[in-house]
Amino acid sequence: MKIYENGEVTEYTFEDEKGRDTLRHSTSHIMAEAVKRLFPDVKLAIGPSIDTGFYYDFDAEPFSREDLDAIEAEMKKILKEGRRFTRFTLPRAEALKLMEDRGEPYKVELINDLPEDAEISFYQQGEDFVDLCAGPHLIDSRYIKHFKLISSSGAYWRGSEKNKMLQRIYGTAFATKEDLDAYLAHLENIKMRDHNRLGREMKLFTTVDVIGQGLPLFTPKGTKMIQLLQRWIEDLEDDEWGYVRTRTPFMAKSDLYKISGHWDHYQDGMFILNKNDEGKEVMALRPMTCPFQYHVYMNEQRSYRDLPYRMSETSTLFRNEDSGEMHGLTRVRQFTITEGHIILRPDQAEEELTRCVELANYVMTTLGLAGDVTYRLSKWDPENKAKYIGDEEYWNTTQDFLRNVMIKNNIKFTEADGEAAFYGPKIDIQAKNVYGKEDTMITIQLDCESAEKFGMYYINENGEKTLPYIIHRTSMGCYERTLAWLIEHYEGKFPTWLCPEQVRILPISDKFADYAADVAKKLKAAGIRATVDERSEKLGFKIREARMDRLPYWLIVGEKEAENGTVSVSSRFAGDEGGKTVSEFIDFILDEINTKRIRTEEKK
Ligand SMILES: [Zn+2]
Ligand SMILES: [Zn+2]
Repeated sequence: MKIYENGEVTEYTFEDEKGRDTLRHSTSHIMAEAVKRLFPDVKLAIGPSIDTGFYYDFDAEPFSREDLDAIEAEMKKILKEGRRFTRFTLPRAEALKLMEDRGEPYKVELINDLPEDAEISFYQQGEDFVDLCAGPHLIDSRYIKHFKLISSSGAYWRGSEKNKMLQRIYGTAFATKEDLDAYLAHLENIKMRDHNRLGREMKLFTTVDVIGQGLPLFTPKGTKMIQLLQRWIEDLEDDEWGYVRTRTPFMAKSDLYKISGHWDHYQDGMFILNKNDEGKEVMALRPMTCPFQYHVYMNEQRSYRDLPYRMSETSTLFRNEDSGEMHGLTRVRQFTITEGHIILRPDQAEEELTRCVELANYVMTTLGLAGDVTYRLSKWDPENKAKYIGDEEYWNTTQDFLRNVMIKNNIKFTEADGEAAFYGPKIDIQAKNVYGKEDTMITIQLDCESAEKFGMYYINENGEKTLPYIIHRTSMGCYERTLAWLIEHYEGKFPTWLCPEQVRILPISDKFADYAADVAKKLKAAGIRATVDERSEKLGFKIREARMDRLPYWLIVGEKEAENGTVSVSSRFAGDEGGKTVSEFIDFILDEINTKRIRTEEKK
């Protein structure tokens, strides 16, 4: 494709980043022209290319899918007419006048923000479409053939909540029909897995406008899954990994956060109560559990023999995220996490950090998620020292320490500046959602500064007060994000031990309802989550529904089964698994549940 740039025409292909971006950006201009033809009152904002295509922001009423289809049809008309993209420049005063005359206030604002000496360029296509644009563009529209408008959503002008909400239309363009079709199929697949859609469809959670953004409500099924995860993690930490459990308040006076540093370093992220209410104590909902657990530690005098002292808590936390940031279960304002703090002697740091990594890895392996993650050493930002406590030497030493722990344990990792907590560097375990966006799932942090601020100490072998180190850690991501991750990873087909409904019993007719109830009773007595589909629907219908509900097992019972005390077992893993006595089936499924085995679908 031919691109006009700096007075020259250059040939690019779609494989060149420049070619790809220019094709897509030029398509966004065609889309903007189509929008203006159909909705003349709409105001233009900006329309760049992005990794996956392009978008354009309009000051407009929200667009429906029908609108997008109409815009697409209009674009095809424009392309049939054909467009040359021509460039011209204007002095500032004339550029402003042109955009004012055309009634484009956002373009006027953009021109006003350009540096004094900037060249102000426009691109025109056809008789009437002119856009403020730095270019480059294709020489003409003949290369635009395979495009699609994907979706539309609100987006704040210049990304700031303080500004007006505009309407963004996302689209994409490719060089060939095959590539476009493959991309659209990929998007469809992602949409099917997206926890924010699938989790609601499976009735695991919901959100309600009047309750608020980022505040999910878990329905009984989602709650059951979280309860299973929580019981497992609590027992694992306490019984096998040497933790003690705490239970501390959800809020505290601002004084506590002033000592911890959160007041100075993290206030924007906190919900603060009574701030403007004179005579009342200013309180804040907790954004993390650290200072609360420190006070549990300080409740008794500790000696070097008591360390490491490992505390964990099923802790609900509050973070005042921007409303534009909220997404399903991954960006929320209230979440619950198994958060812990290990108070330790400096000589124990390496071993304890290694154990934290091992526990996290065990948890992810058990959930079948270990293959999804990458490790990151999150460092401070040396360009922005005011955001952190401690000096350069402190950061270099602690960062080196974490780096060496990962190297010694053969962990592959990346490093990122500016991602540390304000009190210390972190090992972050990252996973991507279906859209490729990365979130931190598990974090392990070394902190050699906070003990002093809180007056925490232990008595060493010589009877002297000594400052301990602190490890801040989680062993599983917060329950909300973990559930989102499980939904997307398994497409809702969870390992049997985590399924809210593990077995459904399907009587062939009403005559066998009593036998079905009897089987269900035996399964429940063995701790298996079983239900009976008592409706007088056809068996085929009930089986289809059991499959659609992504159940691991369903048992068909009729005359033969009732006579012999058996069940006819089917599963989503292997289809028909044959007849078993009730007690055989109980042993069979309990083995899978108790070992948390992950059965996969057997290809036939
Ligand atoms: Zn442009
Ligand atoms: Zn902490």
